[in-house]
Amino acid sequence: MTFDVHDSEAVELHRRNHRLDPHVIRKFRNSLLRKFEADDSALSHLPETMNVQLHSLSVKHRMDSALDGATRLLLQTSTSHVIECVILRIASGRSTICVSSQVGCAAACDFCATGKLGIAKNLAVREILDQVVLGGQILTNEGRRLDNIVFMGMGEPFHNSRAVTDAIRKLTDRDLFARSPASILVSTVGIPEKMTEFAETLPGVNLALSLHSADSEKRRTLIPLESKHPLKDLHEAIRQVNQLQGRPLMIEYLMLDGVNDSHDAANQLIRWVQGLNIRFNLIPFNAIEDAPHLMCSPREAIDRFAQQLREAGYQTTVRYSLGADIAAACGQLARTLQPVQDQQNSIASAD
Ligand code: SF4
Repeated sequence: MTFDVHDSEAVELHRRNHRLDPHVIRKFRNSLLRKFEADDSALSHLPETMNVQLHSLSVKHRMDSALDGATRLLLQTSTSHVIECVILRIASGRSTICVSSQVGCAAACDFCATGKLGIAKNLAVREILDQVVLGGQILTNEGRRLDNIVFMGMGEPFHNSRAVTDAIRKLTDRDLFARSPASILVSTVGIPEKMTEFAETLPGVNLALSLHSADSEKRRTLIPLESKHPLKDLHEAIRQVNQLQGRPLMIEYLMLDGVNDSHDAANQLIRWVQGLNIRFNLIPFNAIEDAPHLMCSPREAIDRFAQQLREAGYQTTVRYSLGADIAAACGQLARTLQPVQDQQNSIASAD
């Protein structure tokens, strides 16, 4: 009988059945889940008769950016759905893995290629974790270390909050991946009660809110969920998260030419965040075919907008996305290998 490497109870049961010293299992797990060594290396710690399933995903395709240090992995689930995971090698030498939480997404944000897919399936805990293992193995093979894990791939993490929370519990479990909570970031388009619940459960894990506009009407055109979870509820949720976490929450703001990048828009944003402990991350927009009406703000407009926020006293960074040539930049995780009819088996969003 095979067992899942992330399932502590199953591992313990098999360890006893094989009369193995706990030390053997620790070495095996260190090898696979902490050092991200190759499968053969990890398996060499176990007796051959032990039938362990190392992966729940298979690598269907790999694309390496010719421009920068991004790698896009197309990964296939056992149900033949394809998801994406992106490795970002940052010039400073640090490495980040951007993982998916769903196949497709029900949130249907106007600027997002994944949002045009609809939702096909929530990912299981082991499918979320295997993205980290497969990405980590690629980095280890290059002599690099995995520094950060961000939930910014396909899907709204809080539409699959139970699996995402359980996966993060395992990522931070000292007997499993042993990652620091501070090295993990979950990005949401804003589901207030899930944000506070998550901050209560895992206060050390970072949260980011994709705001993109402090004007409710405009935000609704970009993020339809604004109708259900309006700005005033998000403001209250951030206040509560601030109390639980005691550190700034990241506000992500996509820079869209002529949509949300004016002097007035920045002033409205500054007014909206008053009283909150936040920092800004401005994201130049990567155009997608499905939204030809949206363009990235010019560099000068982004710099002006950032300066206005800084002058108002807010820490503000501008994120220049990696992997634009392999459609790996945020919002471009698309349907390349996904038959559209696969998506018709849609499940209702778990919001
Ligand atoms: S931006 Fe995020 S929440 Fe919105 S459609 Fe894309 S994946 Fe879903």
